[in-house]
Amino acid sequence: MKKTLLAAIFGVIPALTLAHGVLAEQPIGIVIHGGAGTINKAQMSASQQQAYETALTAAIEQGYAVLQQGGSSLDAVTRAVIVLEDSPLFNAGKGAVYTFDESHELDASIMQGQDRNAGAVAGVTTIKNPILLARAVMEQSEHVMLAGTGAEAFADTLKLVRVPNNYYNTEFRYDALKRAKQALSPQPHQAKMPFDPAWRMGTVGAVAIDKQGNLAAATSTGGMTAKRYGRIGDAPVIGAGNFADNSSCAVSATGHGEYFIRYQVASDICARAKYQGKTAAVAAAEVISELATVGGTGGVIVVDPAGNLSWAFNTEGMYRAMLGSKTPLKVEIFNDKTAD
Ligand code: ASP
Repeated sequence: MKKTLLAAIFGVIPALTLAHGVLAEQPIGIVIHGGAGTINKAQMSASQQQAYETALTAAIEQGYAVLQQGGSSLDAVTRAVIVLEDSPLFNAGKGAVYTFDESHELDASIMQGQDRNAGAVAGVTTIKNPILLARAVMEQSEHVMLAGTGAEAFADTLKLVRVPNNYYNTEFRYDALKRAKQALSPQPHQAKMPFDPAWRMGTVGAVAIDKQGNLAAATSTGGMTAKRYGRIGDAPVIGAGNFADNSSCAVSATGHGEYFIRYQVASDICARAKYQGKTAAVAAAEVISELATVGGTGGVIVVDPAGNLSWAFNTEGMYRAMLGSKTPLKVEIFNDKTAD
């Protein structure tokens, strides 16, 4: 009652909360990832490390600037993911991995926590920034997920930038495909493929909370190297690789998508926070360590309604960064146990 009255006087209902009788600012913050996998210091040169750190810093700073200026968490996660999609370093947008047939098929999704509205695209081959198309599906269509050529036809109605499929070509990813094919022989036509996180992982994502207390999550990927048969991963599957709900948390995932779909990783974390009274950070650590016991590798980034930022992963490393009004900037690559 008192809170409602004060809020009415100040006219900024969700942006302010009462803490010990004092009006406190709604914490804002953003967390990003650029994929998890066998990323270790011994195998990375100082200049490579520097390049990743610079790209992560640019993405987190641009996303955070949106929040500081009073922008929505949806705009902040979109901004951060675009920066990562436009970098050749990450498996999304420009740096997308190759399919077995030596082309690129991209997946992305976005979700906002205030009404659980969501949009996703799967298997698109000519969209410069798949996250923008996922957002358009959410905001400008009556659907949640569009795939392939239909999604691209929809992009044309909105004049979203399309690119030839070879826009996504990079030498580094082509080498990874060659290594993958070697590892797949002598049974290259099997749908069931061995999973080696050293050459198959990637994806980018962002989660954020804004001054209105709204959560959002965005995830974008080229999927897994040498994927076949129109394979779609967890990134565009709401509840698996991406989820946001103001009553629990927002999560973006990276890792072996088949496991993230089967275990509904993103929504399971938020459900544990909501129904078991755990913090979202504890729920994330639990789910990711349980996933490891069944062979699922990867990680997540998480934000909760109080603006607590966290991550959890069961791989050697995960490209990641966080920044919030109550969280200093952290840009990290390797496992906490190894020196950064
Ligand atoms: N989760 C992505 C997929 O399975 C890949 C990754 O994050 O490494 O498509």
